[in-house]
Amino acid sequence: MPETTFITDPEELKSLLELPESADPRAAASLALRIPREMAERLKKGDPNDPVLLQFWPSARENDSPVGFTADPLCERPGPAAEKNLPDGLLWKYAGRVLVTTQGVCAAHCRFCFRRHLSPAAPIDWEKIAAFLEKTPSVEEIILSGGDPLGMPPKERDLAFHYIGALPFVKRVRIHTRYPILSPSSLTPALFRGLEEIEKRGKRLLFAFHINHPAELTAAAAEGTASLRRRGFPLFSQTVLLRGVNDRAEILAELFRRAFELGIIPYYLHQLDRVAGASHFEVPVEEGRRIVAELRALLPGYLVPRYVREVPGAPSKIPLERSSAD
Ligand code: SF4
Repeated sequence: MPETTFITDPEELKSLLELPESADPRAAASLALRIPREMAERLKKGDPNDPVLLQFWPSARENDSPVGFTADPLCERPGPAAEKNLPDGLLWKYAGRVLVTTQGVCAAHCRFCFRRHLSPAAPIDWEKIAAFLEKTPSVEEIILSGGDPLGMPPKERDLAFHYIGALPFVKRVRIHTRYPILSPSSLTPALFRGLEEIEKRGKRLLFAFHINHPAELTAAAAEGTASLRRRGFPLFSQTVLLRGVNDRAEILAELFRRAFELGIIPYYLHQLDRVAGASHFEVPVEEGRRIVAELRALLPGYLVPRYVREVPGAPSKIPLERSSAD
């Protein structure tokens, strides 16, 4: 497999894609451009509104700051960790599951990321996290998020897998990632060896891919996901509803149909978290409900993900679809 490389210079991406304008320098200074070369090379040339490009291209519209859009919309820092006496990097929002915000570098920098303004926390101390979790029998699932756990340096990743594999009560390890879709060449034999180690210790591994548009599901992504499916890992998708990217039922229907063909179960459709710099991506909830109602008319129920929003402090994600009783 070719080595994964990334484009981080907006002028290089502009020239590769023959874009008419440069990236906005203020937006690029706020969150640096990053996109895997293998995905960038598959984008349409000369189209600044390409729905995949829009997710990663630093735009002047990020400089608008309407009321209600904040640096930390889910109140993750300063720390719920500190309040609950949790080790740095551990979030415990929901019963039975903890989330580790790994500092793995993301496959791409999403302009709408709700963690885009959070400076990296202290390096993750996996030994400390493991020592904490050894004493918490109620935690049966670890979610590795981030950052992107597959962007951790191999040594740190192996260390993390070693400690997680040894945790007695943990039954499931869920990996939230964009790498297998945007940068399938990141699925290396060394990674698979690490995953097998966790499985040998009796944990079930599952993947939740962040996918927002059917164009992300390239032939290479299909190969990458197939290599995970062959090993029996359950695969799920998470999608953020984004203006200009996927704000039409037909686009989402195509995305979820195609995902299912690749063995990926549509899991969540997220309402945008109101992070500063991302207001132009917001689709109002009422419009989102209309889109999901149209989606239900296009797809069987098992292909329609749950439309939800995250609310700080809530015991679970909040469903946004109205029931027929509403
Ligand atoms: S992959 Fe996830 S964590 Fe990384 S920039 Fe995108 S939304 Fe944020």
